[in-house]
Amino acid sequence: MAGIVVVGAGQAGSALVAKLRASGYEGPVTLIGDEPVLPYQRPPLSKKYLLGDMELERLFLRPESFYADKGITLRLGQAVTAIDPAARTVTLGDEVIAYDQLALTTGSEPRALPAAIGGDLAGVYAVRRLSDIDAMAPEFAAGRRLLVVGGGYIGLEAAAVAAQKGLNVTLIEAAPRILGRVAAPETADFMRDLHRRHGVTIHEGLGLTRLVGKNGRITGAELADGSRLDVDFAIVGIGITPGTSLAEAAGLTVDNGIAVDEQGRTSDPAIWAAGDCTSFVYKGNRIRLESVQNAIDQAENVAENMLGAGKPYAPMPWFWSDQYDMKLQIAGLNTGYDQIVTRIVGEARSHWYFAGGRFVAVDALNDPRAYMVGKRLLEMGKEPDPAALANPETDLKTLLK
Ligand code: FAD
Repeated sequence: MAGIVVVGAGQAGSALVAKLRASGYEGPVTLIGDEPVLPYQRPPLSKKYLLGDMELERLFLRPESFYADKGITLRLGQAVTAIDPAARTVTLGDEVIAYDQLALTTGSEPRALPAAIGGDLAGVYAVRRLSDIDAMAPEFAAGRRLLVVGGGYIGLEAAAVAAQKGLNVTLIEAAPRILGRVAAPETADFMRDLHRRHGVTIHEGLGLTRLVGKNGRITGAELADGSRLDVDFAIVGIGITPGTSLAEAAGLTVDNGIAVDEQGRTSDPAIWAAGDCTSFVYKGNRIRLESVQNAIDQAENVAENMLGAGKPYAPMPWFWSDQYDMKLQIAGLNTGYDQIVTRIVGEARSHWYFAGGRFVAVDALNDPRAYMVGKRLLEMGKEPDPAALANPETDLKTLLK
């Protein structure tokens, strides 16, 4: 019996192998990852770990003993370079490893700036892997000048850490505003103010022409308006691309991610996929979710289905972002929204998204109650009254009745 092989030892891969054992699977399980460390959580990489407020051990999702105790073989520090779906094998260095069923949890890769515009200069960093953070840590000294390229969550979180450490931070966003792809103008306005109050300079609608360097190391940036900025280092947060190359080379269907059916199966019946690398149909659209919650839930669902459960995946999207002392919590997906209702109660604020009159998502800013209630409303399929939401006198819990 060849057993189950899982390629990609991150959030989804770790959850998947744990769930296989929790569900009673007793055959061989092998988890393969190209990073030379135990599977770890990424969110702190742009938050507490980058700030220096979190020990390395606390990043690890499970201790090494967990995998040993559960009889899970870990193969870390080496990439799978090919899948042969006909022979049911994967290639790992000189080895060929057989599988009965294979799961791909290969995550995603940060988009890089092309070398032609200075993306390969020393002092230009991505925020994806532990090794990225460890490499940039020495740059975070007070007074140094940081350029952040990209005003999404990753760029904003890195900017917040740098500002807290006393760096001079400039963030540029080529689109008309920060968080354009993921949040309403109301949420973006709040975030912009928050950053400006902490001394971060934010330029929106301003692209990068190129990074400039001396002796192979970044010294500055030329911006689309012709201005020039002197910088000591740069962080690039311009989105990710799903890790589909193995799947593509193996002939699996790829459509904005490794395409899976409602159970998490790819176009090859013996190969499954979960996490950032996948795309799946949600409310009639093929989407990709880049979140911890999706990685865990989808991986656990796939584990059960590999053992024959036949359970469709029904995501309940939620996400969070920590910047300074502000905690943003998001429940639902705001795709296609056409109305925003703002609720302000003291320091707590929330933005409620409606699409065609239906409640679809909430951004809760330092407002855990709004987040909890919004999440419950979505789970229950209840429609809150916009006027009641906007009224600070409304006790949100009454909306759940
Ligand atoms: P990953 O965790 O990326 O794991 C994939 C693994 O597979 C990687 O180790 C990769 O190197 C490996 N791999 C790829 N190809 C191969 C191969 N051929 N052979 C072997 N190994 C391979 N989400 C939230 O919900 N909230 C947050 O606040 C949040 N903050 C984030 C902050 C940062 C800095 C980052 C980078 C992400 C953040 N996310 C957040 C997103 C979240 O971390 C990801 O959605 C999640 O990690 C996806 O899990 P995954 O297992 O699909 O991919």
